[in-house]
Amino acid sequence: MKAATKEKRREKQQGLYGMICHILILELKHCPVICIVSLLLTIGTGVCTAANVLFKQNFYDSVESMVKGSNTLSFALASGIAMTLFLVFTLVLQTVSELMQENVSRIAEGHIGRLLNEKACRIDPIVYEDNRFLDHINKAYTGIEAVVSVVDSALVIGLVELSYFLFMGWYFFSLKPMLLLMFGISFLPAVIGAAVRRNMYGKLENHAAPYRRKYEYFEKCLCSREYAKETRLWRGEGYFKKLYEKNLDTYTQLQWKTTMGVERVELALRFLLLTGYVGTIICMFYYMVQGEIGIGAFAAIFSSLDQMFGRMENVFHLRVGSITQNFGAAQNYYAFLKLKEREGKENVSLDRKIIELKNVSFQYPNSADFALDGIDLTIHKGETIAVVGANGSGKSTLTRLLTGLYLPTAGTLTIDGVETAKVAPEALYRNVSAVFQRYQSYKMTVSENVTISDMEKEMREPRDKGETVESALEKASFYYESGKLTEGFESMLGKDFGGTDLSGGQWQRIAIARGLYRTHGMIILDEPTAAIDPLEEADIYRRFAEISSGKTAVIVTHRLGSAQIADRIVVMDGGRIVDIGTHEELLQRDGKYREMYYAQAKWYVSDCVAFGQR
Ligand code: ADP
Ligand code: MG
Repeated sequence: MKAATKEKRREKQQGLYGMICHILILELKHCPVICIVSLLLTIGTGVCTAANVLFKQNFYDSVESMVKGSNTLSFALASGIAMTLFLVFTLVLQTVSELMQENVSRIAEGHIGRLLNEKACRIDPIVYEDNRFLDHINKAYTGIEAVVSVVDSALVIGLVELSYFLFMGWYFFSLKPMLLLMFGISFLPAVIGAAVRRNMYGKLENHAAPYRRKYEYFEKCLCSREYAKETRLWRGEGYFKKLYEKNLDTYTQLQWKTTMGVERVELALRFLLLTGYVGTIICMFYYMVQGEIGIGAFAAIFSSLDQMFGRMENVFHLRVGSITQNFGAAQNYYAFLKLKEREGKENVSLDRKIIELKNVSFQYPNSADFALDGIDLTIHKGETIAVVGANGSGKSTLTRLLTGLYLPTAGTLTIDGVETAKVAPEALYRNVSAVFQRYQSYKMTVSENVTISDMEKEMREPRDKGETVESALEKASFYYESGKLTEGFESMLGKDFGGTDLSGGQWQRIAIARGLYRTHGMIILDEPTAAIDPLEEADIYRRFAEISSGKTAVIVTHRLGSAQIADRIVVMDGGRIVDIGTHEELLQRDGKYREMYYAQAKWYVSDCVAFGQR
């Protein structure tokens, strides 16, 4: 059983070969010429670096012959110049190759980042409610750089270093096969070191990610603009600083422990490497004394030995080290790309003549309680339904299910007889608009803030009789003081990019306008006027009732006065529907609605009077 799970996990994980193929295909697709030239230059660099040893041998041999008198000085000089020129050529080649590779890597990084963002948009929204997923996405984003780094290092090893060592191996072998064996043995500690590092850093990434996410969040609570005001007012800096430091310390300690462990193993391995180094020198010396290799070859190898061991150390410590250190993070990137997406039929056109919820229950991920529990409700096209109830009674959750953003955990929610679980998200969201309780304040222009809900509206329906930016803003009662938004609808909002910030109420009106602007057959308003004063709220609802005639509307409100514009009022309590009826019907019953209504009437006298007068 365990073995089968392990096998399954291995199957799902992206291997190094798969990563290299993926990135190479991406690079070949987006920048084929630069990519091919860069690959060729990379191989060339490896071969040329190794070929330097031949020029060295040639030079040492010619000097030896000159000393022995069998050669002229000019011949020795010529081989010296050839050796130098080839060295310069190799250096230039290496620099150009590195530059090109850097360029290709940056292009690839851009594209793999884009793939991740596209994937994040296709993921089922419910998973954003799951802490484990937030860790997952955090890990995946750090994985972008890791993927590039892993593939870069693998390519350098596979192309530059492999060509270099193959060439050197051939050279050693042609001199004395034993030399190749000695040299081969010195690879062993480096290989073991790489395996240890891979194992330990892989484990570290999985343990450390939750701490990183926490300290990054507390850092945000301390320093970001969003949190600054409240944090300062509550004098919460000290507390956040403590939490930040605690998590950062744990993170650093975990890292430190792993690094210490790895370094201890590596120190032992380095001694082994040294044995190989000294062994090769002794072998060479022996062969030279025996007259089996010439002085030129001995000198060439001797002078290249440092470079070779340096490169080996570089390959296994830096390059393989970088691969193993980043491999876990890179795999997280691919694990994210492989996350299940919501599937379903795409070619479904939903008119929303009837929406039926049958015994629908809903549970948030990692939550023991049901947010909705056995909901039965039918909504007909054109109806206006108000949903009322105490905080936490499940109103917002119900609206998320009605939009199709979330699917029932149990029971069925059908639209025109089709289960939402069987329809692709795009088809579900088409023709639906919403103003969310936690609406967004986009740091963009007024116009963009409104049109973002339906960017293709003008292209799709040039003669659309629906709302324009202007009319949507007007219906949402968005007025601005003259002189404040100097560029009208093109004025930038929010301080982040030098725009004007608005009050909570003004932002909320913009969010309402955004909801109204989108072409829709059904609109959901989840406490859209919480930041707007009751009298103006009444005005907005009155206008809303006018424009929503013939369309289905679901309004969540905690001010019962506003619920009166609805055809039916749904009363929720503890995740259940406890009553349904018109305002008058519900008032006559001795139920939750009546209790809430009179409790509010005491506090919102003007509100109730205002409604009563209309
Ligand atoms: P309302 O909109 O009526 O205030 P909600 O639909 O927001 O109620 O919440 C219903 C229940 O679901 C509450 O008990 C709340 O604690 C829980 N809940 C809401 N959002 C989440 C979430 N993201 N994860 C876990 N539980 C949640
Ligand atoms: Mg709510």
